Amino acid sequence: MKGITRRQSLRYLLQGAAGLALSSSTVNALAAMATKDEKSALIVVDVQNCFIDGGTLPVKNGAEVVPVINQLSTQFLNVVMTQDWHTKEHASFASTYDGKKPFETTELSYGTQVLWPDHCVQGTDDASLVAGLDIPHAEMIIRKGFHQHIDSYSAFYEADHKTPTGLVGYLRERGIKNVYIVGLATDFCVAWTAVDAAKAGFKTAVIEDACRAIDLNGSLQNAWKMMTEAGVKRLQSEDIIG
Ligand SMILES: [Zn+2]
Repeated sequence: MKGITRRQSLRYLLQGAAGLALSSSTVNALAAMATKDEKSALIVVDVQNCFIDGGTLPVKNGAEVVPVINQLSTQFLNVVMTQDWHTKEHASFASTYDGKKPFETTELSYGTQVLWPDHCVQGTDDASLVAGLDIPHAEMIIRKGFHQHIDSYSAFYEADHKTPTGLVGYLRERGIKNVYIVGLATDFCVAWTAVDAAKAGFKTAVIEDACRAIDLNGSLQNAWKMMTEAGVKRLQSEDIIG
């Protein structure tokens, strides 16, 4: 059943993109073509040293996404990568506040903020993209979270939900209509990026097995609920690669 559900999801995405009713075989045939056109982009979220083993905020099995993303990227003409890129003493760091520990929360002007270990500080090796990423044709790296007092999980809007990163404008000007999102972590930066992409009017899919989650207090389940409600499609890499 799971496979059928995924296939149905893909059909829905393709029907939306093409404005056509498609048979299963046509969906299969178009799966790769749908990504190899100028109107689709792969967005690789935060595959950085900080988020894999040996980094400051490792996501469990985070490095496992690298070979999957490398393979997926060959199916896309357009690839954008993001980089979490914080100042020292950033508003999202627990160490910035007296008496706060990582993974606790605090209230900031834009709402509740999870407090993290210091991570992805600008210019550090920790903030570098993982060396094993092999996507030479990636066109753009967008940095986010660089405002001292605002976090930014999403690649589109900072955590106040109104400060733009510029990515909506970049993709629109490039004529991109469909975005496929992968990377770290499913339940934070991937999810927020996906929801903002859908809200901005892009046909949006998250490729689940090319992501790994932090899963903090039910955050993964909540993230999928949030993404589903926003109209984000849930795909597997086999839907793209075959
Ligand atoms: Zn961060």
